[in-house]
Amino acid sequence: MTASPYPHLLRPLDLGFTQLKNRVLMGSMHTGLEDGRKHFPRMAEFYAERARGGVGLMVTGGFAPNIEGWAKPFAGTLSTSGAAKRHQLVTRAVHAEGGKIALQILHTGRYGYHPLCVAPSRLQSPISPFTPRELSARGIERQIRAFVRCATLAREAGYDGVEVMGSEGYFINQFLVGHTNHRTDEWGGVYANRMRLAVEIVRRIREAVGPDFILIYRISLIDLIPGGSSWDEVLELARAISAAGATILNTGIGWHEARIPTIATSVPRSAFTWVTRKLRDALRAEGNLIPVVTSNRINTPEVGEDILARGDADMVSLARPFLADPEFVLKAATGRSDEINTCIACNQACLDHAFKNKIASCLVNPRACHETELVMAPALQKKRFAVVGAGPAGLAASTTLAQRGHEVHLFDAADHIGGQFNMAKTIPGKEEFHETLRYFAHLIDKTGVVQHLGRRVGAPELVAQGFDGVLLATGITPRNPHIPGQDHPAVLSYIDVLLHKKPVGQRVGILGAGGIGFDVAEYLSHGTDQGHASATLDTTAWLQEWGVGDPQAHRGGLVKPQPSPAARDVTLLQRKPGKTGQSLGKTTGWIHRAALKMKNVQMVTGVNYEGIGPLPSGEGVGLAVSHGPGRQDAEVLAFDTLVLCAGQEPLRELLAPLQQAGVAVHLIGGAFEAGELDAKRAIDMGTRLAATL
Ligand code: FAD
Ligand code: NAP
Ligand code: SF4
Repeated sequence: MTASPYPHLLRPLDLGFTQLKNRVLMGSMHTGLEDGRKHFPRMAEFYAERARGGVGLMVTGGFAPNIEGWAKPFAGTLSTSGAAKRHQLVTRAVHAEGGKIALQILHTGRYGYHPLCVAPSRLQSPISPFTPRELSARGIERQIRAFVRCATLAREAGYDGVEVMGSEGYFINQFLVGHTNHRTDEWGGVYANRMRLAVEIVRRIREAVGPDFILIYRISLIDLIPGGSSWDEVLELARAISAAGATILNTGIGWHEARIPTIATSVPRSAFTWVTRKLRDALRAEGNLIPVVTSNRINTPEVGEDILARGDADMVSLARPFLADPEFVLKAATGRSDEINTCIACNQACLDHAFKNKIASCLVNPRACHETELVMAPALQKKRFAVVGAGPAGLAASTTLAQRGHEVHLFDAADHIGGQFNMAKTIPGKEEFHETLRYFAHLIDKTGVVQHLGRRVGAPELVAQGFDGVLLATGITPRNPHIPGQDHPAVLSYIDVLLHKKPVGQRVGILGAGGIGFDVAEYLSHGTDQGHASATLDTTAWLQEWGVGDPQAHRGGLVKPQPSPAARDVTLLQRKPGKTGQSLGKTTGWIHRAALKMKNVQMVTGVNYEGIGPLPSGEGVGLAVSHGPGRQDAEVLAFDTLVLCAGQEPLRELLAPLQQAGVAVHLIGGAFEAGELDAKRAIDMGTRLAATL
């Protein structure tokens, strides 16, 4: 028998009345499928596919126990037997695949985005426009009963357990801290009162569901907000929850309103497992063996294995990595971890969708939550295709075509695959983008896509080869902003800086504050080109930079941020008035803005670029600008280097000649449309087209 590649990760976990087949928990994710009856068949297939992929235990997206607990109007709720019956579609599908699934009970309290929301005190949260109603003691009792009813119905529906959501600043968490609980009755004041709700909910659920039902409690370990829980309080709660009948303690990091990133791609991998370790060690020292789960930025089997091997936790929770690849565990267990489509923690198709009320999916796996509709059926007739461009669109299209049985030839002018991802991966905090290229490189080999790299292919060659179809994934060309004097040698494009590594001076002006302008600002202010290592690769440096400390010494884990000094003076300019970075991701834009603020990057908006020219001093380059529609207050700004990040235009020079030659041509990714292009759209478009050819 060969040794298990990940002995700690793949070891079963005995819960006494039942056993989990490994130490991997698929953490709860709001996909949007929870919020409509019509989505239940899709939800069933979504979880069934992941059960087939071998995960030890899954937790559903949050279901409210009652209307007051809704995340938004008409959010998924489990409060009736009728609703429980609908859930059987999900539980049966999961059990048929040999999986286990728990339902998450989520009461959002003052985070509820609706007028019926309730909370311990009448205090509006910074992330909802609605002020909650303060609950009376009877109202609190009604909420507890709703939790218990929801858990009982979950059992009726066939779930293997429930998870009580007690972290991330939701309802239960709001009772725990003085910041949101100003009550003076038996539900507020001293900690024993503030934690009463959490303990009552767990105790009464256990009483109602019996001993052989998994009861996970998600405890907030480090609130990352002013006035958060102290470490003694966290420990006291963990002990009480365990005594009240919880089977597993899952852990949560940071409230949603915290101003410290906790899961974005710039957060180091497993950045917070040391906090879980503190809890687990303290409980073990008291002889309490309740399994403790750790989470946040765990996205490869190696990371999970290391965490468990060093004893930080008993189980690891991965959520988004299961959107990226439902077969994460199966591939790890069968020595195929190279084939795992790794979550790059971009949030672009999952969390950003959830915040925009769109069904979640995944940038690197557009099938996520679309399993019933985006099906990769084998091709009825094998054809020969050329895919021109090995950026995200071309990679997705070529590998999908080949997986379906077609013969595929992939061309790129560069001598390596990846297109613009080769620039993205150089940005500090975007190191994960390497993984997507690793994944596609492996898939290209596995599926037999024939690569023709290092050669700019022309239309005559493509016509001569008689392909059945040509997919143009040639991407973009940078937009020319036509600023008078822009041919000055101190003016570079973002490609000169990121790809060709041209030298950049000390005072830098970046023209254009879109996604690329922000990334270039981060790269240059960090001094990546000068060899400064990214804080994302060093957890200690990153925690210092953002101000995360030991929760035992600092309530809520907050300390003074200590960013490393900026390597340069960077100014980011845009013509539009108002805030920069409006086009950045809903859940990550604030992080990019905060990161640049820490590096003192200046933001200048509402400018007109009047011209570029030498300065009288003979040193550097002058950028003449005026302000506002009236072009007033003209001035000359002095820089050493100007970097143009003025957007992109589609590159489709091969389209007309191929069409004229009668070739069937398809445009995908940036070649189709450059406006608001991102890798999510490029991969989605490439995959969907290739699934139909
Ligand atoms: P491209 O990636 O542009 O690839 C086109 C390919 O076609 C190139 O490799 C080119 O060499 C090749 N090609 C062109 N013509 C020919 C020819 N005639 N013969 C052979 N080969 C040819 N997107 C996100 O979603 N999230 C991010 O965080 C993000 N960050 C970014 C950061 C930076 C610094 C940059 C530059 C981009 C970033 N993007 C990000 C954007 C993302 O990379 C693009 O949207 C995506 O790469 C577009 O994919 P594509 O396949 O359409 O084109
Ligand atoms: P972008 O986001 O469209 O930004 C282009 C910038 O150039 C804007 O600030 C725009 O603002 C300015 N601009 C437009 N026309 C101009 C002109 N004629 N002269 C001078 N300035 C002009 O495009 P991008 O930054 O090139 O990024 C390309 C794509 O990659 C984007 O669609 C983005 O989604 C994606 N991307 C995403 C991320 C991410 O983190 N998700 C990161 C990088 C890139 P003004 O017109 O107001 O000056
Ligand atoms: Fe991960 Fe990005 Fe996919 Fe979300 S969209 S699951 S963060 S890769």
